[in-house]
Amino acid sequence: MTEESAALYVVPTPLGNLADLTRRAEEILRSVPWIAAEDTRHSGPLLKQLGARGRTMPAHRHNEQEAAARIVDKLLAGESVALVSDAGTPGISDPGARIVAAVRAAGGRVVPLPGPCAVTTALSASGLLDEQFLFYGFLPAKAGQRRQALEALRQQPCALVFYEAPHRVLETVDDMAAVFGERTLVIARELTKLFETVHALPLVEALAWLKADPNRQRGEFVLMVSGAADEADSGEGERVLKLLLADGLPVKQAAKLAAQITGAAKNALYDRALALRKA
Ligand code: SAM
Repeated sequence: MTEESAALYVVPTPLGNLADLTRRAEEILRSVPWIAAEDTRHSGPLLKQLGARGRTMPAHRHNEQEAAARIVDKLLAGESVALVSDAGTPGISDPGARIVAAVRAAGGRVVPLPGPCAVTTALSASGLLDEQFLFYGFLPAKAGQRRQALEALRQQPCALVFYEAPHRVLETVDDMAAVFGERTLVIARELTKLFETVHALPLVEALAWLKADPNRQRGEFVLMVSGAADEADSGEGERVLKLLLADGLPVKQAAKLAAQITGAAKNALYDRALALRKA
């Protein structure tokens, strides 16, 4: 396939508010001969409203490999395909990655369109000051595996971003508090929709806050937890760090030793040590 050949367009669609569809997305959806949709019935009304004339084909988690082969065939025949999921950006906790990989492997052209995505929408309103973030997507549904996954993230110095379903939000927040302790949690619910809320609170208070009003447990969620650097403010790591600094150890060595002794994140302690030295 050449640069001028047909393309697979990866097209984000609104999370809730239809006005969030970009003009470019509209143009592509109107003009391509094929639209591969996670759920053709779900995307139907949007495509109809746009006056899209292309034919739809299913491309969901259970037929992704087959759909990929079909899409590659279309591209080889010179016909472009737009890929959409039910909401947001395909491939982000949604089907799409296998299709993109197959098209790329066949030397096809993949054109990504920027647009709605719950991760970035939620983070932009979170107020979290972490300079980096780690997007995890959905945690395992089983309690033991979920705890294990959270444990593995405990030392990460960046903000952690999760997707969660309403029927699991209470148990997930409970586990997060048990594993992460004193951090900030930002709960972004129903983004771009009527009951949109973005609420920041101490993680250890979050379960009670959610339980206080059943409406707070409804809808779609992005959960954002501040990074391990937060822990260094008040935890054991900081206590040991201060003792070592007071003993005259250089910043780097004090951070390294405090991390080894307490298990706290070294980078976070290093930043904290620099701040303490400047203070
Ligand atoms: N591909 C999508 C994206 O780009 O964000 C995500 C698809 S994933 C199957 C669905 C999850 O995304 C939901 O369970 C929720 O965690 C999050 N999500 C989607 N829409 C949302 C919204 N309006 N408000 C908050 N979270 C949302």
